Amino acid sequence: MVKAEGVHKSFGAAHILKGIDLEVAPREVFCLIGPSGSGKSTFLRCINHLEKVNAGRLSVDGELVGYREHNGKLYELRDREVAARRRDIGMVFQRFNLFPHMTAVENIMEAPIQVKGESKSAARERAVKLLDRVGLSDKAGNYPSQLSGGQQQRVAIARALAMEPKLMLFDEPTSALDPELVGDVLDVMKDLAADGMTMIVVTHEMGFAREVGDSLVFMDDGVVVESGHPREVLGNPQHERTKSFLSKVL
Ligand code: ADP
Ligand code: MG
Repeated sequence: MVKAEGVHKSFGAAHILKGIDLEVAPREVFCLIGPSGSGKSTFLRCINHLEKVNAGRLSVDGELVGYREHNGKLYELRDREVAARRRDIGMVFQRFNLFPHMTAVENIMEAPIQVKGESKSAARERAVKLLDRVGLSDKAGNYPSQLSGGQQQRVAIARALAMEPKLMLFDEPTSALDPELVGDVLDVMKDLAADGMTMIVVTHEMGFAREVGDSLVFMDDGVVVESGHPREVLGNPQHERTKSFLSKVL
C-alpha cells in the first residue's frame, strides 16, 4: 500500500529525511516511533501530498506520490489530481482540528458533501453510523467545544473515515489527551485495525504497538534505524539508539 525507496526530504539546508526505505502492506498496522524531530511527521506529510520529496521514490497503492505515469514518462500532478489522490488517504493529527462552528455530525458530513458532491441525507446517514462506530451516537449535535479531547479525536477519526479512505495516517493521535481519555481513542483504532484498515501510526503508545501493530519502525535523525515485529523490536532492540530511546519511553 505504501512503498518508500531512498526517500529524501530537505527544508532549505536542513536535511530531514535521509533515505527512508520501508513498505506497508495492505491491511497492515504499521507503527512508527522515534524521538521528537526525527522526521516522523514529515514522512507522513510526504505520503499525504503535504510535502514533496526531494529524491527517491514514494508510492501509495502503486502510484508515485505527486506524479502520473503516461507512456513511460512521469508528469507532475495538477492540483485537481493531487486532491483526487488525497481523498483516498485519511489523516488524524495530534490536534483534532475539527471545524468549531459545526456540530459533530456536521463535521463528519462536510467532506463527502463538499468534495464528493454527496447528498445531505446520504452524508448524514453515513455520519450517524460512523458516530455510532466511534461510540458517540449521543453526541451528534454537540459542538467541538462541548466535547472532551478524546471525544473530539474520535469525531476526527470518524470524519476521516467518512471519505472511505484506503489508508489512514495517525500522527500522535493521543499525545494531546489527558491520560484517562487515551484508551477510548486507542479502542477505536483497534476496532479499525481489526476491520482491516491499512494504518500508519506514529505513536508513543508502546502498548498499542505491541498489541495491535504488525510491524514497527524506529526512526532517528531521518533514517530507519531498526524495524521488525513490534514485540521483537520493543522486547529485544538491537541498536544502541533504539535501546536508549525505549529506555526513556517504556
Ligand atoms: P517528528 O514528527 O519526528 O517530531 P518532524 O517531521 O516534525 O519530526 O520534524 C523533523 C524536523 O524537520 C524538525 O527539525 C523540524 O523543525 C523540521 N521541519 C519540519 N517541517 C518543517 C518546515 N516546513 N520547514 C522547516 N523545517 C521543518
Ligand atoms: Mg511529529
